[in-house]
Amino acid sequence: MLDIAIIGAGLSGLSLVDRLLEGNRNIAVFEARNRYGGRILSRSIASGSTASSFMVDMGPTWLWPDYQPRIAALAERLGLELFRQWDAGHSLYQVDAHSAPAMYIDTETHNTARRIKGGCHQLTAGLLQRIPGSILHPHHRLLRLADRDTYIDLEFDAGNHHVSYRAQQVVLAMPPRLLAESILFEPALAPKLIRAMQDIPTWMAGHAKAMLVYPEAFWRHQGYSGNALQPYPGAVLAEIYDACSKQGESAALFGFFGLPAFTREHYRDNLEALIVQQITRLFGTAAANPLHILIQDWGLEPFTATEQDRVPPTEHPRYGHPWLQLDHWRDKLYFCGTETAQTSGGYLEGALKASDRVFEALTL
Ligand SMILES: Cc1cc2nc3c(=O)[nH]c(=O)nc-3n(C[C@H](O)[C@H](O)[C@H](O)COP(=O)(O)OP(=O)(O)OC[C@H]3O[C@@H](n4cnc5c(N)ncnc54)[C@H](O)[C@@H]3O)c2cc1C
Repeated sequence: MLDIAIIGAGLSGLSLVDRLLEGNRNIAVFEARNRYGGRILSRSIASGSTASSFMVDMGPTWLWPDYQPRIAALAERLGLELFRQWDAGHSLYQVDAHSAPAMYIDTETHNTARRIKGGCHQLTAGLLQRIPGSILHPHHRLLRLADRDTYIDLEFDAGNHHVSYRAQQVVLAMPPRLLAESILFEPALAPKLIRAMQDIPTWMAGHAKAMLVYPEAFWRHQGYSGNALQPYPGAVLAEIYDACSKQGESAALFGFFGLPAFTREHYRDNLEALIVQQITRLFGTAAANPLHILIQDWGLEPFTATEQDRVPPTEHPRYGHPWLQLDHWRDKLYFCGTETAQTSGGYLEGALKASDRVFEALTL
């Protein structure tokens, strides 16, 4: 029998495990994907100017260490180097597809935002270095939880077979909406709780990112920051930013899609061409021939997004529902994950805040 089963190896789950390692408990982490990190995803890509590759962030990019103490402390503890988002030069603002973009100088938007040299995945990679491989179970998708009074039965889909475990306590370190939609609870959770969980949008789950790698940062040489905002309906990318490596020797721009999930799906085979067309209109012919284009559509990720997430919220939701702060099934079941954090919910900081709360509850 496990003392604690943690479901989800994103930042909240892994940081909880990292803290629990100090106690002498029998713990295990179960992760549906065959990789760790959840919404944190950096991909290695061949760089233009050097023979080497560099890491680009397809999930989170920024942290704000001035007012996010937990993530700042974790980055420091792991010895990660932070650097400023590149903002120098002219930023662009385009009101519709046919007008010439207006230029402005913006040194405020990313003033306190920092990137991690080598990619955001280093947060979870750093935690994983401390966690013994024997307690990690990738490719284990939780299907069902059953309250057996003094313990919980867990059933997983482990690829071509189902496996079961028993644990005295279970921590659900995954988005509440996904839990409500994909896990069978026996006995069923109260309908009001399930409805509340379904109403919590998973942060960024309906979004998609495009990364364009170039031989060099031509926009910097032309006096552009790389920032370009296109808030009009029909814009393929709504926001574009510089995504170069710290020293700028590996060059990339990234954009958040403006097209909603169903339109992205409709134009799936043409997205790259549409992106290049748009970015060339903004930055000129130097933008026309990227070395690589990567697209990460989070709305298509079954272990992040549900059908409801395909229409993202228009503003940052209020997270940290009071019922998700409580233990359930008489001290055996806990909700973790950034969407349960009462402040900084949705962000990396929120994931750490949630895991701190659960750690304190488990070790009371
Ligand atoms: C495109 C994008 C940009 C973002 N930008 C930023 C940013 O700049 N700054 C910032 O602070 N935050 C940003 N975020 C948010 C940040 O990524 C999240 O706050 C954080 O990664 C959430 O961590 P988590 O552990 O709570 O959840 P997740 O990372 O979602 O982890 C949940 C884990 O549970 C697993 N899982 C799901 N279902 C099951 C199941 N049935 N059984 C077992 N395991 C399961 C998943 O595979 C996943 O590994 C961004 C997110 C995205 C997608």
